Amino acid sequence: MLSHPWRSIHIANLSVLAHLHPSLISPKLCLRSILLSNRSITSASGTIVTTKRKELVNLPAVESLARDQIATAPSRLSSLSKHLSTRSTQENTLRTTNSDSFSASMAPVETKTYDYIVIGGGSGGSGSARRASGWYGAKTLIVESGRSGGTCVNVGCVPKKMTWNFVSINEALHVGKHYGYEIPDGVKINYGHFKQTRDAVIKRLNGSYERNWDLEEIDLVHGRAQFVEPKTIEVDLNDGSGKRRYTAKHILIATGGHPIFPDIKGAEHGISSDGFFEMEELPRKWAVVGAGYIAVELAGVLAAVGVETHMYIRGDTFLRKFDPMVQKTMTERYEAVGIHIHRRHKGFKEVQLLSDGKGANKLLKLIGNDGEDVEVNEVLWAIGRAPEIDDLNVQVPGIKLKPNGHVLVDEFQNTSVEGIYALGDVTGQADLTPVAIASGRQLGSRLFGPPVLKSAKLSYENIPTVVFAHPEVGTVGLTEPEALEKYGHEKVKVYHTRFTAMYYDPLPAEEKKKNPTEMKVICVGPEEKVVGLHILGHGVGEMLQGFGVAIKMGATKQDFDSCVAIHPTSAEELVTMR
Ligand SMILES: Cc1cc2nc3c(=O)[nH]c(=O)nc-3n(C[C@H](O)[C@H](O)[C@H](O)COP(=O)(O)OP(=O)(O)OC[C@H]3O[C@@H](n4cnc5c(N)ncnc54)[C@H](O)[C@@H]3O)c2cc1C
Repeated sequence: MLSHPWRSIHIANLSVLAHLHPSLISPKLCLRSILLSNRSITSASGTIVTTKRKELVNLPAVESLARDQIATAPSRLSSLSKHLSTRSTQENTLRTTNSDSFSASMAPVETKTYDYIVIGGGSGGSGSARRASGWYGAKTLIVESGRSGGTCVNVGCVPKKMTWNFVSINEALHVGKHYGYEIPDGVKINYGHFKQTRDAVIKRLNGSYERNWDLEEIDLVHGRAQFVEPKTIEVDLNDGSGKRRYTAKHILIATGGHPIFPDIKGAEHGISSDGFFEMEELPRKWAVVGAGYIAVELAGVLAAVGVETHMYIRGDTFLRKFDPMVQKTMTERYEAVGIHIHRRHKGFKEVQLLSDGKGANKLLKLIGNDGEDVEVNEVLWAIGRAPEIDDLNVQVPGIKLKPNGHVLVDEFQNTSVEGIYALGDVTGQADLTPVAIASGRQLGSRLFGPPVLKSAKLSYENIPTVVFAHPEVGTVGLTEPEALEKYGHEKVKVYHTRFTAMYYDPLPAEEKKKNPTEMKVICVGPEEKVVGLHILGHGVGEMLQGFGVAIKMGATKQDFDSCVAIHPTSAEELVTMR
């Protein structure tokens, strides 16, 4: 029996209250609610109220409770896992419908009905399914054809950031010498060991995703989905046991995207970012084709452990969608530390495999359109990503696509077909994990939450993001050219500073020059509302989130200035700029 004074509050009301005032709902109450799953509780009036388990876990504070529970875990990965999940430590048997009793040979005759079908168990799909089922008790199915957790966990943010951490240690060793550490030259790097460690972490995360889905009573099918009727999908099961059909009033397409290879002879001898994370040995020399953030991040990590790196870009700078300050300084910085930047490159027309193998034993010849050839151990194609939509049969329900192939959605993630939604990378709105998760959660709340959430949607404005380059880059809001175009020259005021972080003080002058910190704050109107903030330098990745909150709240330059600086930090420059 619940002894808490709120025991009489109907669970649905509690859910609404938790939404409106999350701080009022104690984690303890949530935990007790979970523990009481499938049991009866006594109301204040003494009436027995039988509750279903899912109604009891419909509590937003469950997530923060879970965060508290695993907050002692030491690494950022566990914090990522708690951000993306709830109780990752509890073991539970996974229920997959792969092993349902009916014979695969009879499929696809039977169609199983759900409230919510989510195609794609990546960031967005998981976020949405968990909100729908874990909070609101919707009977939910996730269909996942690959590894649970999607791009971010398996071939994106997580392995990328782990690799960035791995090479940052090498950078720190270099700085360490100048601080007086007697570090021998040529410290050996065991990349194979690191890869195994990284793979193990990812495997743990895959399991953690599936356990959390199971805890929240989400069914999981491992297989490839496609529409066979407007509201029915058929899943070709990964275990080869046949096909199953499922239908639901609400279907979410959260199938993400995939890297593109160029349409040239021999392109398959190179790798995409997916292949980068399969590499078991480091190349001695490699080429990176592309100028976006994935190209910059992956070129940066290997260069930081001494791999001869050649970047081939079409323009004069990379990160072309970022503020010009970022483009210029980062391109120069990469060049200053020895990365070969091939500007205004005309592209390659052919790749020849001279010798197959791993690491330095593989040899490729890249034949350029400009007549220049180059031999490298590996080539990374980082020329863009396409929505994962080709075999989904979206024409069956009649879902409209944008000219570039992404699914067309409105601000509520509705596609052109009622009851079918799309979010995350497949929509090409902002290809970031937290965006996919947040839009997924909002959609889950809108579809299955209380009436007060019927207009829930994600605001795509002022999304902060970090490029894990060398150094990191943080950006939120408008670039300077965007602000000038939107508001006009007379309304825009730009604050700018460039300096060397104290961390690099022991380095000789010429080395210090290679490690700039640079910041730009873009303000608009007489009140100097901050509409853009761009920072690069040591530690800025951890600096941006708080400023992101301030900008989302509509902060002005005066608000920045009224915040007392934290000294000595690089971040203090942002609140003392003149
Ligand atoms: C190298 C790299 C680094 C990145 N780094 C960052 C970063 O640092 N920070 C950040 O915020 N974002 C980063 N991203 C982007 C981030 O990974 C994506 O924005 C995010 O994963 C998108 O989530 P999603 O749910 O839309 O798709 P995904 O996570 O890709 O999930 C889609 C899932 O759907 C499954 N699927 C596809 N088709 C079907 C089908 N027909 N049937 C069943 N299942 C299907 C796929 O197997 C996949 O698991 C990075 C991406 C890459 C490639």
